Amino acid sequence: MKTSIFGLTLEQLTTWLLDNGQKKYRAEQIWDWLYIKRITEFAQMANVSKECIQLLEDNFVLYTLEQSVKQESADGTIKFLFKMQDGNLIETVLMRFKYGSSVCVTTQVGCNIGCSFCASGLLKKSRDLSSGEIVEQIMKVQQHLDEVKKEERVSHIVVMGIGEPFDNYTNLMSFLSVVNSQKGLAIGARHITVSTSGIVPKIYDYADEGLQVNLAISIHAPTNELRTRIMKINKAYPIEKLMDAIDYYLEKTNRRITFEYILLRDVNDHVEEAVKLAKLLENKRHLSYVNLIPYNPVDEHGQYQQSTPEAISAFYDALKKKGINCGVRHEQGADIDAACGQLRSKQIKKADKVQA
Ligand code: SAH
Ligand code: SF4
Repeated sequence: MKTSIFGLTLEQLTTWLLDNGQKKYRAEQIWDWLYIKRITEFAQMANVSKECIQLLEDNFVLYTLEQSVKQESADGTIKFLFKMQDGNLIETVLMRFKYGSSVCVTTQVGCNIGCSFCASGLLKKSRDLSSGEIVEQIMKVQQHLDEVKKEERVSHIVVMGIGEPFDNYTNLMSFLSVVNSQKGLAIGARHITVSTSGIVPKIYDYADEGLQVNLAISIHAPTNELRTRIMKINKAYPIEKLMDAIDYYLEKTNRRITFEYILLRDVNDHVEEAVKLAKLLENKRHLSYVNLIPYNPVDEHGQYQQSTPEAISAFYDALKKKGINCGVRHEQGADIDAACGQLRSKQIKKADKVQA
């Protein structure tokens, strides 16, 4: 199968062109057509030689994703379901905020981390997405915006869709390089956030990359006992190890970290846990922000319910009282199943029913 040209960094494309007898300047020309003019066929590249276009057509494809479902929410959130070349389905969400338009991308088909509250983890990982497939999600959303002619640009990216990005590290890095490049989409590193469930060795690697891209850690509980119950990855990488890696990251980058904390009723939403969380973050308060996430109910995880509004505000107040920066994440697109993995799992269930 030919690969997507969106998977190549500018350096990789330059090397490839040189290896194939083309001039170096072609790479930037091609990138301009791909990312600025946003062509849908190689043949549209008016200033590129026929020979070079043929070479690209013989070796790459432009788009491999096919839009399968699009749902628009009353608040402007749009959820896309894409079919990949091998038939697998992935989802991508566009969210509109006052500060810009943010796209949430998927990095794997399924997820092996298997957190107990998550729809994505219900399906074991069947494969990693290539960097091209991750970049294409942004391009497809941008093309949709181009079509509706609102001059709206994808300004922010969150790597928080299906999958564990640090379990697909190399492709994630190529993706970040492509979307961040000044010659391409030029989405500022500070406008991009990667979220991880806490794969400790990769946090060290990531710290060493010297990127300005934001890091979010899904912490979800302040003690090992509780965290292991909610996220089994805590057995492999317990809180002390995670905190050591985070301290290393903070020391190296001096960049603020976001801690995601999903609030599950009567499980991890007591003031007692808020106090423990504050204690855990005490020595890095100045570089921490806690994002409290109201749980989005998943049919298959009937053991969990959303916290009450009272519990959420008591948790928030307890953190604030201890001097922790925090906020409650506003739900986007709740009416269209915009939480991770939910649209995909519904579509798969529907397909199963049709087949049955
Ligand atoms: N695998 C990475 C990134 C994808 S999940 C990670 O776990 O960090 C991104 C975020 O969505 C995580 O913080 C996760 O806790 C949250 N999430 C997953 N299922 C959810 C649900 N049912 N309701 C609300 N948030 C959920
Ligand atoms: Fe995977 Fe993240 Fe879902 Fe956990 S929360 S199962 S790591 S996608």
